[in-house]
Amino acid sequence: ADVLAVSARAAPLGSRLVLLLVEDLTEARRIEAVRRDFVANVSHELKTPAGALSLLSEAVLDAADDPEAVSRFAGRMQYEATRLTNLIQELIDLSRVQDNDMLSNAELVPAADLVTEALERCRQQADSKHITIASGGVDDLSVWGNRAQLAAALGNLVENAVNYSPPHTRVAIAGSRLRVQGGELIEIAVTDQGIGIPETDRERVFERFYRVDPARSRATGGTGLGLAIVKHVAASHGGEVQVWSAEGQGSTFTLRLPEPSSARDRHLAARKK
Ligand code: ADP
Repeated sequence: ADVLAVSARAAPLGSRLVLLLVEDLTEARRIEAVRRDFVANVSHELKTPAGALSLLSEAVLDAADDPEAVSRFAGRMQYEATRLTNLIQELIDLSRVQDNDMLSNAELVPAADLVTEALERCRQQADSKHITIASGGVDDLSVWGNRAQLAAALGNLVENAVNYSPPHTRVAIAGSRLRVQGGELIEIAVTDQGIGIPETDRERVFERFYRVDPARSRATGGTGLGLAIVKHVAASHGGEVQVWSAEGQGSTFTLRLPEPSSARDRHLAARKK
């Protein structure tokens, strides 16, 4: 981009326009390619459980006089149906967070509320794996934004922590105020003692449909959309999500959001325009 900027400055007006046009076209092409990939991925991801359901229903019909087989197939049908429902729900969440108007319902949200909702979301899974989830530092903390989306973001992080951890481990949710250059940030960190993420995959896990180990992710009912949703929510709230991880030891995902009163002022000023 720097090279382009320098040559654009040095070039006469006509070629500068051409350069800008070329840049625009490249960006348009890139967006178009991302969109095409996305549609192809969605179609594939939807077709897999739908195809399995169709095969399994045939198997149930064939096995009508074998009650044990019928119940086995029905169990697998239930699993595929859940996967399909999760996927559709996450696609709906994703399109909601990509909607520019998402902050129209912004309010001051206590971090403790977000933690409660996240815990509700994965209590069953955590209990069945004997995973203890502890939280701290969230009582006097609030963030400014869309409650449902912030809850979905933290919920996804905690859900992943539980999903990618072995039984009898711990997950910690820690809230804090962070002093940074030029102000304060609110940070909510989710730490697990799970399988970790190889360094080469660390940046890519935030991409839609990216999974480090598709087989394992599928076993947890994963769709590869969760972290893409978290990233969108963080960005549209003026914040960011980061990951630290050591393979075989665990991961920490941090959600950093602007200090609530400054986020609120900025948001209200933007709406007045
Ligand atoms: P999924 O629905 O597959 O969990 P996500 O977008 O939430 O999709 O996560 C993308 C991938 O990142 C997962 O498939 C998994 O491989 C990896 N991942 C996410 N969170 C964790 C974690 N806490 N520990 C280890 N791996 C993780």
